Amino acid sequence: MPFVISDECISCGACAAECPVSAISEGDSKYVIDADTCISCGACASVCPVSAPQEQ
Ligand code: SF4
Ligand code: SF4
Repeated sequence: MPFVISDECISCGACAAECPVSAISEGDSKYVIDADTCISCGACASVCPVSAPQEQ
């Protein structure tokens, strides 16, 4: 299942830099993951300081 970024996101951008398929982009109030592009590798979750990316 793809990962989804929760409202805990502080928009630091660390996850977007790590995503191997560029599935993460900056949204209005937090970063967002394109579910159709995400390959569920978990890299975003491993670098996030607030554990916002969660596998759904
Ligand atoms: Fe990108 Fe992997 Fe996070 Fe999916 S789980 S958004 S592919 S870094
Ligand atoms: Fe948000 Fe975490 Fe990504 Fe930073 S690493 S933009 S806090 S989801």
